Amino acid sequence: MKKCPFCKQKLQENAHYCQFCNSTIVDLDGNPILVQEFTNRQKTILEKLIQLLVAVFFSVQFFLFGLMLLSSIFGNEVIKLSSTTSILLNIVLAVISIGGAILITNPVINLVKSQIEKLDR
Ligand SMILES: [Zn+2]
Repeated sequence: MKKCPFCKQKLQENAHYCQFCNSTIVDLDGNPILVQEFTNRQKTILEKLIQLLVAVFFSVQFFLFGLMLLSSIFGNEVIKLSSTTSILLNIVLAVISIGGAILITNPVINLVKSQIEKLDR
């Protein structure tokens, strides 16, 4: 027994098209059309892309917030990158911002996902 990749109905092993949704389920060479695997791969790529965008977004936010904090403590010299200390502070801030963003990216995405799933019900 095999399943239609489009409507998931059970079909006979030698079926070439789905009797329920009329989809062709084998290509011209007789190979099964793999719709499910293709969409799963697309999903994975999309999820990685969203992860990247969220991580970049939080990195920038943390960095900007950190710059504001540092300049209020050390003055505008920090932003001008005019001394070794200010360059070092910026590098440390960048590392902390990116690290923090990576740490919170997945929890934030999972939180949003669970909220969307609640709306679906
Ligand atoms: Zn079907």
